[in-house]
Amino acid sequence: MASRAAKRVFFFGNGRAEGHAQMRNTLGGKGAGLHEMTRIGIPVPPGFTISTEVCRYYYDHRRQYPRDLKTQIEVALSRMEKILKRGFGDVENPLLVSVRSGARESMPGMMDTVLNLGLNDQTVQGLIRRTGNPRFAFDCYRRFIQMYADVVLDAESKERSGVDSFEALLEAQKKAAGVRTDAELDDNALRELVSAYKREVKDRFGIEFPQDPMEQLWGAIGAVFGSWNNDRAIAYRELYKIPHGWGTAVNVQAMVFGNLGDRCATGVAFTRDPATGEKSLYGEFLINAQGEDVVAGIRTPRPIVELRQAMPKAAAELQRAAKLLEGHYRDMQDIEFTIENGTLWLLQTRAGKRTGFASVRIAVDMVDERIITKADALRRVEPDQLNQLLRPIFDPQKKALAQKEGRLLGKGLAAGPGAATGRIVFHAEDAVEWKKRGTRVVLCRIETSPDDIRGMDAAEGILTARGGMTSHAALVARQMGKVCVAGCEALHIDYAARTVAVDGVVLKEGDWISIDGSTGEVFKDQIETRPSEVLQVLVARSLDGKKSRIYQCYAKLMRWADEVRTLGVRCNADQPDQAEIAMAFGSEGIGLCRTEHMFFQGDRIQSVREMILAEDETGRRRALAKLLPMQKQDFKAILDIMGELPVTIRTLDPPLHEFLPKTDREVVELAQVMGVPIDSLRSKVQVLHEFNPMLGHRGCRLGISYPEITEIQAQAIFEAACELRCEGKNPFPEVMIPLVGSRQELREQKMIVEKVARATQAAYGVKVRYLIGTMIELPRACMVADEIAEEAEFFSFGTNDLTQTCLGLSRDDAGKFLPSYVVHGLLPDDPFVSLDRDGVGSLMKIAVTKGRKTRKNLEMGICGEHGGEPRSVAFCHEIGLDYVSCSPYRVPIAKLAAAQAKLSASDK
Ligand code: PEP
Ligand code: MG
Repeated sequence: MASRAAKRVFFFGNGRAEGHAQMRNTLGGKGAGLHEMTRIGIPVPPGFTISTEVCRYYYDHRRQYPRDLKTQIEVALSRMEKILKRGFGDVENPLLVSVRSGARESMPGMMDTVLNLGLNDQTVQGLIRRTGNPRFAFDCYRRFIQMYADVVLDAESKERSGVDSFEALLEAQKKAAGVRTDAELDDNALRELVSAYKREVKDRFGIEFPQDPMEQLWGAIGAVFGSWNNDRAIAYRELYKIPHGWGTAVNVQAMVFGNLGDRCATGVAFTRDPATGEKSLYGEFLINAQGEDVVAGIRTPRPIVELRQAMPKAAAELQRAAKLLEGHYRDMQDIEFTIENGTLWLLQTRAGKRTGFASVRIAVDMVDERIITKADALRRVEPDQLNQLLRPIFDPQKKALAQKEGRLLGKGLAAGPGAATGRIVFHAEDAVEWKKRGTRVVLCRIETSPDDIRGMDAAEGILTARGGMTSHAALVARQMGKVCVAGCEALHIDYAARTVAVDGVVLKEGDWISIDGSTGEVFKDQIETRPSEVLQVLVARSLDGKKSRIYQCYAKLMRWADEVRTLGVRCNADQPDQAEIAMAFGSEGIGLCRTEHMFFQGDRIQSVREMILAEDETGRRRALAKLLPMQKQDFKAILDIMGELPVTIRTLDPPLHEFLPKTDREVVELAQVMGVPIDSLRSKVQVLHEFNPMLGHRGCRLGISYPEITEIQAQAIFEAACELRCEGKNPFPEVMIPLVGSRQELREQKMIVEKVARATQAAYGVKVRYLIGTMIELPRACMVADEIAEEAEFFSFGTNDLTQTCLGLSRDDAGKFLPSYVVHGLLPDDPFVSLDRDGVGSLMKIAVTKGRKTRKNLEMGICGEHGGEPRSVAFCHEIGLDYVSCSPYRVPIAKLAAAQAKLSASDK
């Protein structure tokens, strides 16, 4: 049986199309859109799409085409000719076409396009006869020659200078004609320009400008396929992880003209406002112009509402098409259109890019309008986009202006989303002082440490030159809800000179700086910010929720997420104010209260240092006695705020380097407080120095060496809980032992906690509901999870440390080389940001299976930073954890991600 020739060319026109929306892989996004629009009765100029498979063939066969392509193209062309009653190369009534790229995923501006193809010395006369407009015809011809030379003839040239010889000729022609703009050149001037352009082609490329339209067409098709592999396109694909093997389709389509006179126009429109989501046609247009004029910004386009007065019939058609498309695709569309002599044509439709605000509002509105289901709405919103609803943001226009003015200084990691603008300070104390004086500051540090905590709190934002996404600065900033850009390596911070230098620009203390923690961008000077309405309603309670449209939409989406998800969402909070925020966001408990973070406040750090540096148990107990009331007071406040919800309190886990005094001044001060000689304290600090503190004397190891530390902490927890119990409340502490690697370690610590729990309850005469469990943050703990589960009533995966120990990557140092690993594809993502499923994830699965084998109802959660990262949340759902715990401001993101994980699991 003879096999049927493979279909490589897909025709569309006159209400019929051989392709459809689901054929993106074959037709590319643009092609699939053109076919689908044609099918549903939208006016689309006829044309055909050459499939992406031809592009792959082209590259696999040393830039040759499949043999049957020629015939298929000829057939499609003749169908176009028949519909339009024009001929390709016909001298009387020429058919002109555009040749455009179109990959599966949009790659805006990366590949090439040729317009007005089919023009030559004869057909230009036909175009004059058809339009009666010689000026227009010669303008098309000269644009075509320039584009063709640039895209097809000069395709190999790596450097397209922008101001090329054609531009120079155009300038010369304008000068000779004594005019300022292109539009003022008359038909004679443009005819001369065409001749000059053709001579230029001969001089530059040694050939006559091709007059045969078929030769032109093949040249353009080859150039578009060739542009799939230009440097720009390759770089774009690398950035957005688009496979190089996909290839592009080529769309050949009849030209329609928006520049034939005052009954013509061209424009772009969104079916809803892409910034706010408001339901109204949004966009702009230019009368008597070509598409590129809208983008080029030479003439200022007019808002789309004005189209109604300018061209009422076309405006009504556009409105109808927008409605039809939105209803058909069930999503907001981004449309390109042209009006030729009063007739509307659509040239492109695709799902419109939108801000987080628009994304939430459109999803919620479309449910209310019964266009999509609640599940669709939940799937549509990117969880990370919710950040935009919570953070102050830069006024988008002001930021664009700053960019245009060259004020972008550099880029670091987008570590704490939002926008902050303030005066530069380099030291935490200065941040506090300046804030007291009413000055907004951005704290710029090489890196931060617990000493900086008050300064971080006082600052609008935090900017560091070093450190990764789980560096101290990033972690604390997110927890505080502070804007943070971390690891901006281009910054050279000089603490002594109080300057920060970037590429020759030197900023001093007190100069203004602006940082965008949602993008990692750092700008010179001030950029205006706007506060988030959602926070005004939920946290500051300064705005009535009923008066905020965006809050209403947000709240609705969250309600739907809560209805769907099965994964719990708790939050990491160390202080009562953070617990309040957690409750405002609807957190279902606290999954991690890092007790050592409680000591960052005020003078408490001194007492911790005193405890760490004490010579003996008596000294330690003396320091601990100072800490006990402070901790108890905090625990009580937090437990009280959280009501009956679980509060996981971790016993001390201070990596020593974060707490030891660093400067001489600090040593002297501490010696005074402790009443010990300065020299002996200094030598004690030296003794305690660790080469690798993250793997050193921390976590439960500290409690094993000094049981009184665990004992006093347990006392603070249970006294707090018992007091609340006496007040008739029902707190639920979960005591968590960190960095456990064996059953025995946990057992020893657990015995201490249980003893204190028993004694304290007896003393108060009440019973408290509580659990004792452990963090799983070492590979060994995963491998012996069945044994550990004999003791543990819950597991909480500390994936920051588990990542560090599984990959053998230091959390504090990886920022120096990890980014290049990701850029070069050695790692798909920063494993401290998005959970390494294959490595860390496999360990977690082992721990889940082994843990539940021993204890069927073992409660399991995650409290590493991954707990607020959407893909990691999905993984936690997949492996059957009970909850994720993340910083307060990530609670909404985690909730939405958990709902999406549930929905995609039910889809399978
Ligand atoms: C962890 O290791 O994931 C964790 C939550 O603990 P920390 O970040 O405090 O080490
Ligand atoms: Mg840890």
